[in-house]
Amino acid sequence: MLAYTYVSKGDFKLKEKPKPQLDGPGDAIVKVTLASICTSDLHIKHGSVPRAVPGITVGHEMVGVVEQVGSGVRKVKPGDRVTVNVETFCGECFFCKKGFVNNCTDPDGGWALGCRIDGGQAEYVRVPHADTGLNVIPDGVADEQALFVGDVLATGYWAARISKIGPEDTVLILGAGPTGLCTLLCVLLKEPAKVIVCETEEERRSFVKEHYPQVLVTDPEGLSDLLKAECPHGGADVVLEVAGSRDSFRMAWEAARPNAIVTIVALYDEPQILPLPDMYGKNLTFQTGGVDGCDCEEILGLIAQGKIDTTPLITHRFDLHDIAEAYELFEQRRDRVMKVAVRC
Ligand SMILES: [Zn+2]
Ligand SMILES: [Zn+2]
Repeated sequence: MLAYTYVSKGDFKLKEKPKPQLDGPGDAIVKVTLASICTSDLHIKHGSVPRAVPGITVGHEMVGVVEQVGSGVRKVKPGDRVTVNVETFCGECFFCKKGFVNNCTDPDGGWALGCRIDGGQAEYVRVPHADTGLNVIPDGVADEQALFVGDVLATGYWAARISKIGPEDTVLILGAGPTGLCTLLCVLLKEPAKVIVCETEEERRSFVKEHYPQVLVTDPEGLSDLLKAECPHGGADVVLEVAGSRDSFRMAWEAARPNAIVTIVALYDEPQILPLPDMYGKNLTFQTGGVDGCDCEEILGLIAQGKIDTTPLITHRFDLHDIAEAYELFEQRRDRVMKVAVRC
């Protein structure tokens, strides 16, 4: 089968590989129908994910059809249309029982697919712990509607959940890339008083204005004036940092009112500095990144009810044969690309 492979730093290639086989009773083999490219794939390509193993098939955001299951799999069966969770988790260890599945202590626990073990930018993928790693897509929900459930949408949902958003809150989201937009969709479900999105790129700001007219949109230069006008208590009540730059990291705590919650969703290429003397007295609560992707069933239910729709994010479609072209487009952010769907 064809599999897009992490050869070495800076080098991904489409390679012919053997079809994956069941390796344990909890495994499933999934025929991938659609895969997407995530910024984390680019982080692997740039060598900033030390855990990533050269030679593995990349891709951790996909949907497909179950082809084969191990003897211990209970929740899914061959023929089921499923979303694949970016995170592998056992469901039984100390962290899993508390819902902190990102820190599952199983050897395959956490972000394994497309990082430490073969992922899904391929025709087939082996999913360990299939009972927790796969969720059946409800009838009436198309593959494209479900494509982001296991990764960027799970991340947005988790970020909105842990940010304890209330009806009187003004919520600031930094960054309107794919994860920022998924976060926005999930924040809107919490019905806060106001939502502000701050984004550097003009095209992305217009995307938000066009699709979500109820949201206030600004560039970083205009943020502080907008906050002064909209927030009577010296800043946003909740800040979600989804942009992942040094500037946005600083902006996140600066834009927060005293005693606010600041949720860091972004993955950074470099360490960031918390200037504690400057922040003293602000009494902020910081939450750091690493999605606990255990809400997929709930998210699929919300999609089925028409409450979440991420299909406007799919701006481009490719075949697996042309995945290198898809990467190039996504990485260079050409042609107003938001997300790509790759038919496998
Ligand atoms: Zn990802
Ligand atoms: Zn676990």
